[in-house]
Amino acid sequence: MKNPFENALSQLTRATEVKQFNKETIERLHQPDREIKIYIPVKMDDSSLKIFEGYRVQYNNDRGPYKGGIRFHQDTDINEVKALAFWMSLKCAVANIPMGGSKGGITVNPKQLSKTELEKLSRGWIKLMVPNIGPKVDVPAPDVNTTPEIMSWMVDEYSKITGDKTNAVITGKPLEIGGSEGRGVATGLGGFYAFDIMRKKMNLPDSCRIAIQGFGNVGGNAARILEEHGHKVVALSDSKGAIYKEDGINIEEITNYKKENKQITGFPGSKSISNEELLTLECDVLMPAALENQIKEDNAKNINAKLVVELANGPTTPEADDILFSRNIKVVPDILANAGGVTVSTFEWEQNLKNEHWSEEEVFEKLKGIMDKETEIIYEKSLKLKTDMRRAAFIIALERIEESMQKND
Ligand code: NAD
Repeated sequence: MKNPFENALSQLTRATEVKQFNKETIERLHQPDREIKIYIPVKMDDSSLKIFEGYRVQYNNDRGPYKGGIRFHQDTDINEVKALAFWMSLKCAVANIPMGGSKGGITVNPKQLSKTELEKLSRGWIKLMVPNIGPKVDVPAPDVNTTPEIMSWMVDEYSKITGDKTNAVITGKPLEIGGSEGRGVATGLGGFYAFDIMRKKMNLPDSCRIAIQGFGNVGGNAARILEEHGHKVVALSDSKGAIYKEDGINIEEITNYKKENKQITGFPGSKSISNEELLTLECDVLMPAALENQIKEDNAKNINAKLVVELANGPTTPEADDILFSRNIKVVPDILANAGGVTVSTFEWEQNLKNEHWSEEEVFEKLKGIMDKETEIIYEKSLKLKTDMRRAAFIIALERIEESMQKND
């Protein structure tokens, strides 16, 4: 299997086969501006010293300061972070926000750390990254396994070291320290707005049957919002397993069940299924909201949904894209479907810099405006160019990045 960065570059090449770009634009986007690797020393609770490997990849800042989340995961490595940073550059261009792309991470299973160890690790990442980040330079945010609390430790560490009091260096913070209304739900909500536009275009039912892989920040919020709008979440999964319930899973009940049991399997009235069964379930919409490389050449022919909404980053490989396209299954690509998170992160950054606080209503209205508009633009482009929505989204992003690159030269 190819690593996520190889997949990302292959997506880039495929988009340029549909529309030609300046050779230099594409050459420059074949590698990041900067790759930073750090080794974070942490004194563990048993007094032993452990060194953790951390990363920041700053991919492109032609449209604005680098922007991207930080992932804590045992499988995170430089190739994954590089791919995620590349996708961030395109995603910010798709959302048409004044940001470039970056991403960070630490190779760690945070579930194996105590809270004190996790705080030391998070502060340690900042200590070593301080020279390379800043409100006008590079603005990190949460991603897989990183929470508003982790962001609060990070912004505090940055402020202690630099004296910066704007808190604009990190987004996804708790409200009390300058977080934005609506940031927590933004990715799931943005995905919902994109889905809803596509549902109408594709004449899907008012009450769709939906399978969601992943029940964290993104998958959990999407599930709740979909249920509130009359849809049925018939299958859900987390890293420990997947469940199916024909008449729909009650999201409040499963949320409480997960809090108590630390897993979703065993939820009363549901049937345990495998991850593979979830992905290939007969339903209207499949929403991958976990990790990369889930829909691949070997299972794409078995996908049984009419629409795939990529809430996760990089869940579909380029080979699988071709199979889905030939089977007339539409894919709302990650760089559009999950752009709600970085969009509201950018609102947060803007509020911090202007010392403002916007209402939730205002945030949601602005987010909806962007998601609806860009989904329409990308859908129309895909029809015009007779291509899939991923290539269309790449082309829109590349047009916008190329324009900024040329202005900056
Ligand atoms: P999270 O840590 O809150 O949740 C991840 C979920 O995926 C958890 O429920 C976990 O149990 C589940 N999971 C992990 N491995 C799995 C597996 N093999 N099978 C099934 N489920 C599995 O992370 P998140 O913030 O919800 O991020 C999920 C995806 O969305 C990632 O791809 C991330 O990059 C992307 N994303 C997140 C944001 C954001 O604002 N948080 C923004 C844009 C994109």
